[in-house]
Amino acid sequence: MDRAAPLRSRPTLLSGFDPGFATSLCSGALGRIDFMSNNSARQRFDWTNSLFLASVHLAGIYAIVHLTVFYFSWWTLGFGALWGVFCGLAITGGYHRLFAHTSYSASPLLRAFYLAFGAASVQNSALAWSADHRRHHAKTDSDSDPYDIRRGFWWAHVGWVLHRDVGGKKMDKVNDLHADPLVRFQHRYYIHLAVLFGVGIPAAIGTAWGDPLGTLLVAGFLRLVVQWHATFSVNSLAHMFGRRPYSKLTSARDSFWVALVTFGEGYHNFHHRFQADYRNGVRWFHFDPTKWWVWTMARLGLARNLHRMPADRIAAARQAIQQADHAA
Ligand SMILES: [Zn+2]
Ligand SMILES: [Zn+2]
Repeated sequence: MDRAAPLRSRPTLLSGFDPGFATSLCSGALGRIDFMSNNSARQRFDWTNSLFLASVHLAGIYAIVHLTVFYFSWWTLGFGALWGVFCGLAITGGYHRLFAHTSYSASPLLRAFYLAFGAASVQNSALAWSADHRRHHAKTDSDSDPYDIRRGFWWAHVGWVLHRDVGGKKMDKVNDLHADPLVRFQHRYYIHLAVLFGVGIPAAIGTAWGDPLGTLLVAGFLRLVVQWHATFSVNSLAHMFGRRPYSKLTSARDSFWVALVTFGEGYHNFHHRFQADYRNGVRWFHFDPTKWWVWTMARLGLARNLHRMPADRIAAARQAIQQADHAA
């Protein structure tokens, strides 16, 4: 959905460092945040999330040390990559395009796959993730946007994860998802599933080639760090750098580079303009492995009702932008 939201000057990587975020790091110990903008006054520094994120990053760095100094194994590396693909698709094809946008329907087997590996991706339950994401689309570039890019690169990338709303998390506009018993189960046992699929199963499988610790570190923690920053880059980089061929009403941009590390999620300008479409990279040559995955799942009978915007509507949106550019 497009909205005519007033944007401040385009943020840059350096100017984007939110002074409120820095303030929060200092004042968090006092249990109080004295932010500079109205919207941030509703948020407090979240010590639990922040210490958890910091610890996982340290474990991810140690995974590289383990792999390069103590014990190198192609099995460990390959399995870590495979787990990364499963978890990545669970977020892009599952949390994002299926649950948050309902751009297609999926069989219980495929939904269970998404929910298990989505939990392993430690980005909250599908229900909570979708509530945030639907608000992002409905309120893009406003005070109610959870990852509002107007607050700078760091806020949109990770600052918002390190804070929590005073008064608890808003979980509105997800009643349709709440009706799914699998989604409710995952929401209830999210932490159990995150531990099981995030680190438990990888460590157990790693014993098969004698490297349970390395597999735990690489497929568990290093994979998680890489995956987090890939996902975060959609909220930060894809709202800062790239072209806007379909709409200039929001900050969302099409970025091949972000698409490259997010299984196709970087075509974010198209996605904000036509969020009901299961494709993000709409042209045949766009690098969008998630759309190929969903298409394949449909061929296997595990997905159906794949929504596509009519080609003439997409062409009309492009043409309107081109005409506006010529007139300018
Ligand atoms: Zn979206
Ligand atoms: Zn966005």
